[in-house]
Amino acid sequence: MNIGIIGGGISGLTTAYFLNKKGYNCTVLEKQSKVGGCISTEKIDGRIFENGPNSLLLTSQHINFINELGLGEELLQALDTNKDRFVLKGGKYQILPSGPHNFFTNHFFSFSAKLKIITEFFRRNKPTEKIESLYDFFLRRFNKEICDYALDPFVSGIYAGDPKKLVIKAAFPALYEAEKDYGSIIKGMINQRKNSKAEGASTERRKAYSFKNGLSVFTNKIAEQVDVKTSQEVKNISKGESGFEVVTSTETFQFDKVVIASNAIGTASFLKEMLPDVAQRLENIPAPPMCVVHSIYKKSDAQNAPQGFGGLNPKVENVFTSGSIWTSSIFPNRTNGDEILITTFVGGMQNIEKTELSEKEVLASVHDELTNTIEVSGEPVFQKYYKWNRAIPQYTEEVLELWDSLENNPIEGLFISANWKGGISVPNCIDQAIELTKSFEELKK
Ligand SMILES: Cc1cc2nc3c(=O)[nH]c(=O)nc-3n(C[C@H](O)[C@H](O)[C@H](O)COP(=O)(O)OP(=O)(O)OC[C@H]3O[C@@H](n4cnc5c(N)ncnc54)[C@H](O)[C@@H]3O)c2cc1C
Repeated sequence: MNIGIIGGGISGLTTAYFLNKKGYNCTVLEKQSKVGGCISTEKIDGRIFENGPNSLLLTSQHINFINELGLGEELLQALDTNKDRFVLKGGKYQILPSGPHNFFTNHFFSFSAKLKIITEFFRRNKPTEKIESLYDFFLRRFNKEICDYALDPFVSGIYAGDPKKLVIKAAFPALYEAEKDYGSIIKGMINQRKNSKAEGASTERRKAYSFKNGLSVFTNKIAEQVDVKTSQEVKNISKGESGFEVVTSTETFQFDKVVIASNAIGTASFLKEMLPDVAQRLENIPAPPMCVVHSIYKKSDAQNAPQGFGGLNPKVENVFTSGSIWTSSIFPNRTNGDEILITTFVGGMQNIEKTELSEKEVLASVHDELTNTIEVSGEPVFQKYYKWNRAIPQYTEEVLELWDSLENNPIEGLFISANWKGGISVPNCIDQAIELTKSFEELKK
């Protein structure tokens, strides 16, 4: 059976890889001249920069897959410092509690916020029937301090999103289900874990990883093992008696089945004829712009810089950036030994206007802010700027409408494995590819 897979990011490549293993004949069509999509590593003067994702939270199933690809030696686990996460409060980075062992001794949250967290287990208010934003959900279960200083920065860090626009059911479905089934998030999560254990599913704590030479090593390696045709922008797709006709900028392909693994806006462009409603909904999914700034400083100019995964900046702190990953604290091989690398994010749903500034203005504002927040002195040795015009699809109410319209497979033989459907993280995309392959096998029975 011939399967066409549209999009050569991690979703499309892993779908092709797992389907190939089951004996399907797959061809990946990728618009750009290279594979990887959001995964994009650049090496400059021996330094390694990630324009997209920086680290992946992997399970042993993902690690087995990486070993199978022959990349086990390349895998790079983040240093233990990555467990220390900081949030800006009163203009200073403060460390968050990392678990129950230091929850009471840590001073980040006020006594009343801690009390709200502990007593959440016992509060049984009835979940609302309406579609609820993350902010309203957390306000109902906890309080404003937790919304502003925990939820808001984490939502910026994961989705580049606005907690008042993202919906709990789509963005954090496990929390939504936990409350729905058990009346409390904490109680629900304890029970979800127990149930997974009983079913023999993995409950292991994920660890943060990258690759010694950056994340593009991963997508390039998968691409070597599947059939990928680059510089093939899909323009239209239609279904006839004998399968699908896929028209690209230069060729026409015939496939028995098609898997869509392209980003939302790219998909909207070729579905207009076949599924106009779905195309319109895909166009409506917000995906804000975001600038990624890499700054290198001499270690001697950053002696007071905290060590940890990074620092997130709540909106209420009113600073220029959404936060930074202190990249060389967790992956020291990214720079030359006497330097540090800070990767900073500017923009996202709550700060779109900042991405409209010139590159020069963004670089200068990032440096100014780092001077205050992590106390670097002196000028950066090097700075690099990359702009995503549409960074991450936002799981807002629009996405729920889109999912509803796709519920009953509107076109037989057309499948989806993309970051606008089953989670935005790279591991989510890999898991979707594994699930899709299982469903192909089910269909054979
Ligand atoms: C700045 C940034 C930081 C991130 N950080 C993290 C992180 O630290 N950890 C993490 O797990 N995740 C992170 N993510 C999220 C994650 O990287 C993405 O959600 C994931 O890589 C998406 O993979 P994908 O294959 O679904 O989509 P994409 O990577 O977007 O790939 C889709 C592909 O489809 C192609 N395409 C589009 N239209 C067409 C067409 N008409 N014809 C043919 N091809 C087409 C595109 O060119 C692209 O290559 C980050 C994302 C960004 C942008």
